[in-house]
Amino acid sequence: MAIEFEKTTSLEILPVDKVFKDSGEYLLTCPHCSRLRGIDDEGGSIHRLKGEQYQDNLCDGWYSIADSVKVVGEVEELPNYF
Ligand SMILES: [Zn+2]
Repeated sequence: MAIEFEKTTSLEILPVDKVFKDSGEYLLTCPHCSRLRGIDDEGGSIHRLKGEQYQDNLCDGWYSIADSVKVVGEVEELPNYF
């Protein structure tokens, strides 16, 4: 039981406030592991993705698209969390 609790704590949902628009998806850096991840753009604007929650299939960390999310002009502008 203790292990389950620790896992939940470490996988806290963290906000993503910068994304980069690529063809058919948005790129972002995972706030848990900083690796570049892609999410489907759902065929619409970023506004439709606000509040959506995703789980990184690499580190199992959860993140959600912040209401204040900004679309940056260069992929290099995505934050590095380390
Ligand atoms: Zn991650």
